[in-house]
Amino acid sequence: MTARKDILGDADRIVIKVGTSSITMGGDTASPLFMDSVADQVSRLRDMGKEVLIVTSGAIGIGLRAMDARPKPKEIPIRQAAASVGQSLLMQRWNESFQRHGIVIAQILITLDDYTNRERVNNLNNTIDTLLDHKVVPIFNENDAICVKEIGPVFGDNDTLSAVIASRMDADLLVIVSDVNGLYDRNPKLHADARLIPTVTEITDGIRKAAGGSISGIGTGGMATKLHAAEICRDAGCNMIIVSNETEDILIKAVVGEEVGTVFVSDSRLSKKRRWLKAANPSGTIVIDEGALRALESNRSLLPVGVTDVAGSFLKGDVVAVVCNGVAVAKGISNHSSEEIRRIRGLRSDRIHEVLGRKSHSDVILRENIVLL
Ligand code: GLU
Repeated sequence: MTARKDILGDADRIVIKVGTSSITMGGDTASPLFMDSVADQVSRLRDMGKEVLIVTSGAIGIGLRAMDARPKPKEIPIRQAAASVGQSLLMQRWNESFQRHGIVIAQILITLDDYTNRERVNNLNNTIDTLLDHKVVPIFNENDAICVKEIGPVFGDNDTLSAVIASRMDADLLVIVSDVNGLYDRNPKLHADARLIPTVTEITDGIRKAAGGSISGIGTGGMATKLHAAEICRDAGCNMIIVSNETEDILIKAVVGEEVGTVFVSDSRLSKKRRWLKAANPSGTIVIDEGALRALESNRSLLPVGVTDVAGSFLKGDVVAVVCNGVAVAKGISNHSSEEIRRIRGLRSDRIHEVLGRKSHSDVILRENIVLL
């Protein structure tokens, strides 16, 4: 097997994700000791010539404490309010930690929806490139105050967000700092004989089973979301490592390739556009038959004849989910609005002009605008 340092040692651009349980080190306020240690290590990584971006959690937890609200409320409004209180306290604390090294930081609050809009993605990428050129450390968090999807129980979390950032910014490595040592074959909090899996080269059903649900009580992310992050990284040709916040100098150890945590090795690379598509939030759904699915699997475009139904309201150029037999099989950029597709579904391509009354695309989604899931 390839040595760790051969897999990880060459990483130039690194995204570091720090979860709530690490920021607070199990308490309910930011831990200066831990955050100083992250800043110290980031400073050393930069001296080693690495570019570092940080994704931080902790705003909600810190905000709740500052507002004297009860811990871990389920209601979204109080979590949003707490996020907006906690975010400024969190950044204040990060600033103190990095100032000790004369390092300037930047705050970037984003949502996964921002990553669905290509114009916003380009603007964001320009901002981040400029920050990195000026040796600023960008620090991201979800924009929880305006977006409820990310802090709801169903959708994303900072694990997913950090993977999307790593993918979009062409990072070589995502380091997820957590309150667990890595991925175990069984839940280590329940089974004393659980064994750490040091390297994952393929995300198999066995690995999925090992990841199970959340095993961290404080943050929102568990192993399942970390696995999802690993899948996003894999598509981007970015390695990912999960490491424990309790190990001294853990970031340095992870980056130089010491045997710590669990590494998810990536050897594939989807095009940037397909990675963007995979991470984008769809505006609607196109339901297709099995013949159309076979066409997509053979790298062909989606034609109206294979479309059986449409759900939601979207415009030409929007990202849509493609569903077959109740399973999401692909995402794509639609050539038509939902209203147009309702009129042309099931029709042969040569009838589109007649039905829509103008010269129009005969494909519903072009093959270069499709990514299989
Ligand atoms: N954005 C949330 C916060 O700052 C955390 C989400 C997460 O833990 O993944 O509190």
